[in-house]
Amino acid sequence: MTYQALTPDTLANYLRQVPELLTLLGDMDALDIVEVGDGNLNLVYFVGSRTNPERSVVVKQALPYLRLVGEGWPLTRHRADREAHALKVFGARCPQHVPEVLHFESAQSLIAMQHLRAHIILRKGLIDGITYPNLADHLSSYMAQTLFHGSDLYLSAADKKRAVAATTNTELCKITEDLIFTYPFEDHATNVYSPSLPRAALQRLHNDPAVSVAAAQMKWVFMNQAESLLHGDLHTGSVMVNQTDTYVIDPEFAFYGPIGFDVGLLLANLLSAYLSQDWHRVQAGQNAAQNAAQDPVPYQAWLLEQVAQVWDGFAQKFTALWAAHDASTGTSFMGRGRDDASLSLFREAFMQRVFSDSLGFAGCELVRRTLGLAKVAEIAAIPDATARAQIEVRTLRLAEALLLGRTDFQCISEVTDLAEECR
Ligand code: ADP
Ligand code: MG
Ligand code: MG
Ligand code: MG
Repeated sequence: MTYQALTPDTLANYLRQVPELLTLLGDMDALDIVEVGDGNLNLVYFVGSRTNPERSVVVKQALPYLRLVGEGWPLTRHRADREAHALKVFGARCPQHVPEVLHFESAQSLIAMQHLRAHIILRKGLIDGITYPNLADHLSSYMAQTLFHGSDLYLSAADKKRAVAATTNTELCKITEDLIFTYPFEDHATNVYSPSLPRAALQRLHNDPAVSVAAAQMKWVFMNQAESLLHGDLHTGSVMVNQTDTYVIDPEFAFYGPIGFDVGLLLANLLSAYLSQDWHRVQAGQNAAQNAAQDPVPYQAWLLEQVAQVWDGFAQKFTALWAAHDASTGTSFMGRGRDDASLSLFREAFMQRVFSDSLGFAGCELVRRTLGLAKVAEIAAIPDATARAQIEVRTLRLAEALLLGRTDFQCISEVTDLAEECR
């Protein structure tokens, strides 16, 4: 069948022809189908039985253009193949944090997957001031499992090179190269500046050669450092949560790139949640006071703890997977029979370099979310233009310090201290 962007009606007909989904959904005449996509690129449908709420699936279909902009920004549907493949690979590496793929048809760019019924998008939860007790543990596990097992530290050299070749994602990487690493750092037509953002803050960033150089260096690392299969778009809108579970969705930007890119995007989005609470906690007003009475840890302190625990948990788990793998195979990336001191020195230097990369990428992501095309709701939805701009200025200050100082930070507490100073 030739590709067709589906509507609720045509999707119902499509689903009737897929035996595994028929079985799962039961009575096809009693289905509710609603389009719920809130992302920038694709159609997303919830499909559920009216008679049995346990029977439901999510259907995601790629459109042949960038949804955020419209048909004037064409895009191939290749990304659906990338996403389906990545969901399967990540699901095998970390099943507890990845929705299960139930059906995939490349010709329709269509993925049916496990419906996360009892979960919300993390970004929304963080705006609303909700804490999640397992969040940092789960996200650090997800990143350690997916990123370690895609790398040369685990795969054979041949398997790794095959994997690199099989996962090129030229178009979506180009979006990142332009919209994260290039346009936000110049006065580009696609940039969107918030109405009260002081021009001085903008010019300060755009006119600093050190910032331009640092952004170009991070872009180079992104384009040339094929370390592991990345999620590629690991912001807080790609995470779904509740009090017990954490799932990572939407890996359509997956490709072989630098490990620090996934880590850095996630850290940046947690930091953006942190800075934006200067507005949201005031808005929550009485509720915030009540929450504070119940919970002695202020919400922003909790957010900074997540930043610290995500990095420390990731570094610790990644290193532990690495050491355990070397021990079980009796060899290492360095070769056979290396002494423990050399092995641990190499691991420490490796993780320190991933840390610097992560901070550089976090800086780029924060600049891009402030000046670039795609915004984040925790800041862009602040209706008071002055308050919004104030948070954006702080965000840019933090971004600049991370980007320029990325190799100077020795540990994550220096980063959380800096975030506090930027408020
Ligand atoms: P896009 O690539 O367009 O950003 P996403 O995969 O992020 O699409 O999905 C858009 C939205 O659809 C998500 O923000 C979430 O609200 C919802 N969604 C996507 N996948 C699922 C799922 N498996 N279960 C529940 N909701 C989902
Ligand atoms: Mg998305
Ligand atoms: Mg699963
Ligand atoms: Mg997406």
